Amino acid sequence: MSKPVNVTVWDEAEGAIGPYPQGIYTAIADFLKASGEFGEVRIALQPQPEHGLTEELLAATDVLVYWAHCYHHQVEDAIVERIRARVLNGMGLVLLHSAHASKIFGRLVGAEPAKLRWREIGELERVWRIEPAHPIAAGVPEFFDIPHSEMYGEHFQIPAPDELLFISWYEGGEVFRSGCTFTRGLGRIFFFSPGHETFPIYTLPEVQRIIINGIKWAAPTGHPKITTGEQPFIPPARA
Ligand code: ZN
Repeated sequence: MSKPVNVTVWDEAEGAIGPYPQGIYTAIADFLKASGEFGEVRIALQPQPEHGLTEELLAATDVLVYWAHCYHHQVEDAIVERIRARVLNGMGLVLLHSAHASKIFGRLVGAEPAKLRWREIGELERVWRIEPAHPIAAGVPEFFDIPHSEMYGEHFQIPAPDELLFISWYEGGEVFRSGCTFTRGLGRIFFFSPGHETFPIYTLPEVQRIIINGIKWAAPTGHPKITTGEQPFIPPARA
């Protein structure tokens, strides 16, 4: 049996928001726990000291799930750098919804901030699964509808992702790269855009399945130690 994946769910605020009386972080943590697929599922919040992301917590985190919308600019650069260093050393990072504009996403992928088109009128979003064999697509139908969503449209100012797994279409005609992966250093990064706080999007089973799959995919895989810096000369073995 493989080592359990320890998850930390991070949110920029605490308390009720939209249809989530206990906060989005609680809703996400609850369905992750209920899945039975993870080890520890912890919560860290931006208003806490060090934004809740202490060295100790990050060291104990295999995958960080990051939801944020309005307070990106208030995230201290030292904490952003701490997260970045952990990702480069192998921690997985799953960025949800408006985390597209977070400092950590922009710095890791080289697009700060990664802007996009948006509109908030509660229109339907249809999410298309375009890489059916990818582990993040496991158990996900060919497409599913989110009855009310916030439109995120192209152009999305990111570099070409390593993998494009989901594309969303909206009633207004826009399309969006709604599920993308990146690799930076030893770390795996998954961005998934559905999750506007006005609508109960994190209660949808397809959305929960994609996030669970994304965390499992982003978990560290047991990589060898990386060596950098000046090296001794080791002559090749002679026959
Ligand atoms: Zn939103």
